[in-house]
Amino acid sequence: MLIFHDIAEIREFVRQARGKGHSIGLVPTMGYLHEGHLSLMRQAKKQCDTVIISIFVNPTQFGPGEDLASYPRDLDRDAAMAEGVGVDAVFNPAAAEIYPPGYSTYIDVERITEKLCGASRPGHFRGVATVVAKLFNIVKPDYAFFGQKDAQQVLVIKRMAADLNMEVEVVTVPTVREPNGLAMSSRNVYLEPDQRQAALILSSSLNRAAAAVRSGERDAAKIRQLVIDLIKAEPLAEIDYVEIYSHPDLEPVEVIKGPALLALAVKMGRARLIDNIIL
Ligand code: AMP
Repeated sequence: MLIFHDIAEIREFVRQARGKGHSIGLVPTMGYLHEGHLSLMRQAKKQCDTVIISIFVNPTQFGPGEDLASYPRDLDRDAAMAEGVGVDAVFNPAAAEIYPPGYSTYIDVERITEKLCGASRPGHFRGVATVVAKLFNIVKPDYAFFGQKDAQQVLVIKRMAADLNMEVEVVTVPTVREPNGLAMSSRNVYLEPDQRQAALILSSSLNRAAAAVRSGERDAAKIRQLVIDLIKAEPLAEIDYVEIYSHPDLEPVEVIKGPALLALAVKMGRARLIDNIIL
């Protein structure tokens, strides 16, 4: 497995793979890899001849006071894990390689970014869309793989790719969870043992909501309140949002008739955790 830090080098690697007639898969990540990331890479290996992952803690998607400086990083460990699932190359640029002095161009996906994490993290999806567009332009992948864990993010990327006629198929991969239900996240390292236990309320409340829907409940406000009440009963958890929107359009829903996204963000000590389920 090769590791590149320069845009020119990864482009040359892609050019050579293309010369062999290879299809290219890209898995964008911020590193500190876990099984969730590896599941994206395994899916990419199934679908593509050459798999490239990016590891880049993208400064433009962090707001002031967020965890850009403390975000966990371990390139050696990540490289060993990526190699273990057969990744062909890692692209790990410095911030100045992606945003050189004078950098001035950003992508704003409208409407679907106004709610959920877009509302609580202003500018977040502008940074995400911008860096992913740049990675798409650098690597020119046939397929790019994103996790359902970040449900709104994958919708934003799909919207951007469609709106800007990008020749990439965006593939959504299911959320990977710990055996106890906790959605895997690089940010779970911020959790103290008691918070990690308390964090189970995210997935368990989502499951309770899904069970209510299976039992016939269709009132979105009631389902949302059920989740809010469950999380509020956990003293270590502080709700950022609990919302239900139609999926994939993210329109308000009162009565659940078709697929609906139940998404939540919860602060737990230093960590802000997100999770979701499609009802
Ligand atoms: P990140 O490094 O957190 O930016 O995540 C990189 C990619 O991995 C994104 O597409 C995420 O949605 C995906 N991802 C992160 N955690 C999980 C998980 N637990 N299950 C599936 N995909 C995940």
